[in-house]
Amino acid sequence: MKIKQVLSIVMSAVMFLCFVACSGETGTIGPESEEPTVITTEEPSTAEEVTTEEMTTEEITTEAPDTTPETVYAGLDSGIVRDGTPKKYVCLCFDDATQQDLKIIEMCKKYNYYDVTFFISTGLYGVDWSKAVGVPHVRFTKKEVQSGIYDGFDLASHTLNHLPLDQYQNNVKKVKSELENDAKNIYKLTGIYPVVMAWPGGDPNVTRTLMKIAYENTSIRLGRGTTSTHKFDLPKEFLWLEPTAEISEATLFSDFQRFLDAECTEDMLFFCWGHGYELDIYNSYDKLEQFIKMIAEAEGVERVTVSEFYQLFKDEIPSYIEDPAD
Ligand SMILES: [Zn+2]
Repeated sequence: MKIKQVLSIVMSAVMFLCFVACSGETGTIGPESEEPTVITTEEPSTAEEVTTEEMTTEEITTEAPDTTPETVYAGLDSGIVRDGTPKKYVCLCFDDATQQDLKIIEMCKKYNYYDVTFFISTGLYGVDWSKAVGVPHVRFTKKEVQSGIYDGFDLASHTLNHLPLDQYQNNVKKVKSELENDAKNIYKLTGIYPVVMAWPGGDPNVTRTLMKIAYENTSIRLGRGTTSTHKFDLPKEFLWLEPTAEISEATLFSDFQRFLDAECTEDMLFFCWGHGYELDIYNSYDKLEQFIKMIAEAEGVERVTVSEFYQLFKDEIPSYIEDPAD
C-alpha cells in the first residue's frame, strides 16, 4: 500500500476515534432548557487501522529539545503564597484548541481573566472534524498558534494525537511518545514546559496502569478526567483529577454559587472544564461569558491555571499512589 493511502486510512480512523473521544467527554450534559443536539457517528474503525507506527510519521513527530536544568516549567509564577489560611481555588480550562477558543479568549480578556488553561494536541494542527461533529470543529493551524493566540494563558497537553491512550495497550514507548512529544512541542512554542494534561477521551479511557506509565516515564504530573463531582474537595491524586463541573451542565451556576457561599474552613477547589465547540452545539456563548464574568468578579477566590494549582499543591497531593493492584 502506498504511503499516501496508508496515511489517508490512518487519518480517517484517527479523526473518527478523536471525535468519539471528544463526544464521549461531554457525556449526557445539556443546556438548561433544551435537548442537546444529536451527534451521529460513523461505524467504528478497527483498532488495527490505527497503529502507532503509522501515527508517529515524520510529519507529526518533533525534534524539540529535551529538558535541561534551565527548563522553565509551567505554573510556577502564580504569585500566591500558601500561608496556612484556607483558600477557595478556581480552575477553568478548555480542550482541543479549536477556533471557538478565539471567542473564549476574547471573553477572558474582556474581564482581565488570564488564569485559564487550554489543552492542545500539537499533532492535529488544522484538522477539521466539523462534518463528524455537526458544528464547526476546526483546530488552529500551527501558524495560528504560533501567532500568539494563547499568549498570556496556560497552554497544556491533550496528547500529541488525541487518541485515547488505552488503545496503545500499555506500550510504554507509545504512551510516552504521545505525552512527551506534545509537551516538547508546547515547550518549543511557548518556552514553558507543560506539567499537566487532559486525558483524551476522558474517564472511559483512563486506567491506573496508564497513570503509572505517565508518572514513571514523563514529566506530566496531573491528568484531568471528565466526571463532574459537583464537590469542592481537593483531589487525592493528581493524575486522575475529576472536575467539579462542565461548562454545559445545567447546574453550573448553582454549583458555583454554592462554592462561593460555602464556609471556607479548609482549602477548596472549583474545577470547571469544557470544549469551545460546545458553545456552538448549545448556542451558549452568552452563558459562558456570564460565567466567566462571575468568576472574574468573584471575591474571596484564587483564580489559578491548572498548572499553577498543581505547583501550589504538589508537595501535599501525590500525582500517583502506587496500589499493589496496579
Ligand atoms: Zn479532547
